[in-house]
Amino acid sequence: MTPFPWQKQNAALWQRQQGRYGHAYLLTGVDGLGLTEFARAMAQGLLCENATESACGQCSACIQFRQDSHPDFIQLDVLEGKKEIGVDQVRQLSQRLMQTSHQGGYKVALLQQVESFNSSAFNALLKTLEEPPEQTILILTTYQLNRLPATIVSRCQQLTFTPPSMEDSQAWLQQQLPHLDATLLKRALRLNWGAPLAALNWLNAQGWQWDEAWQKDLQSLRQGSQAVTQVVANWLKWPQPEQVFDQFYLASVTAIRRAFYQQQIPLNQAWFDFQQRVLQAKLDWLQNANKELLLEALCMTFLQVEQGLAIRQPVFESEWIRGRWA
Ligand SMILES: [Zn+2]
Repeated sequence: MTPFPWQKQNAALWQRQQGRYGHAYLLTGVDGLGLTEFARAMAQGLLCENATESACGQCSACIQFRQDSHPDFIQLDVLEGKKEIGVDQVRQLSQRLMQTSHQGGYKVALLQQVESFNSSAFNALLKTLEEPPEQTILILTTYQLNRLPATIVSRCQQLTFTPPSMEDSQAWLQQQLPHLDATLLKRALRLNWGAPLAALNWLNAQGWQWDEAWQKDLQSLRQGSQAVTQVVANWLKWPQPEQVFDQFYLASVTAIRRAFYQQQIPLNQAWFDFQQRVLQAKLDWLQNANKELLLEALCMTFLQVEQGLAIRQPVFESEWIRGRWA
C-alpha cells in the first residue's frame, strides 16, 4: 500500500494498526512527501471489501473510491476563493459522520492541511474528536504541526513522514526525469527541503528560472544597479513568491558549509542567526505580515551578513513588522 518508496516505515506502522484502529490519525511532514497520497491509500484500504494488507483495487468500494463517489468517504478541502476551512464545513462533516454507514463498514473522513482551520473550526473538530461517532476514522494531514492546538494533536495518533536521504531522493527523481542533469536534481532537492515531490514539481515548473533570476537580482543589488524595493517587487511577481525564503535559506546553508570547509573557525554566528530569521519570516508570511517589508528586511539582513556585519536588531523584529505595518 506504499504510494512512494520513502513511505515504507509509515506503511509498516499503519499495517500494525490493523484490527485495532484508533479513531483519529494525524499525518505530519513537510509539503512534497506525499501525505495526501498516503492518506487516501489508508482510506481506500479501510473501505475496501477485500482488503488484507492494502486495497484490492477491484471491488465496488475501490471503484467508487477512485471515482470519488464512495458514500462513506468524506474529504474536507478549503472551498474555492476561501483561505481557510470554516466552522460550517466541520459541523456538516460531524453531522454526516453521526449517520450510520451506507455500506456497513467504516466511515472515513480526510481533513487536509488542518493548519488552515480557523479557531472556531478547531473547536468544532475538537468536539468530534472528543466524542467520536461509531465506526468512524478521521485522517488529518498537516504541513505545520506547530500551528495546531495541542488539544487536537493529543487526541490523534501521529504518523510522522521524513524526507528520504539525498541519495535515495536523487535516485527517485532521476527515474522520473531521466533527461535532467544530476546537479540540477540536487539543487532542486536542496531548495525544496529534501522533499522529492516538491522537487519534482519545481523541476516540472522549470523552477531553475527563478533560481537564476534570484541570483541575478542579488548581484544587481550588490552592484547597486537595482534598489531593494525593485528587487522585492520582482520577487512578489513570482508564481510562488514564498520560494524566496527557500533561496535565502539555501544560500545561508551554502555559506556555512563553505566556511566550514575553509576551516574558518569559529564559524560566523551571523549566518546561523540569519537562518533563524528566514524561518521566522516564513512563518510571519503565512500569518499575513506585510509582504514587501518582510522581504525587504530579509534581503537587507542577507547583504549585511554577507559583508561580514553582525545583524542589526531593530531592522528585523518580526513583532515590529507584524504589529505596526501588517
Ligand atoms: Zn477493494
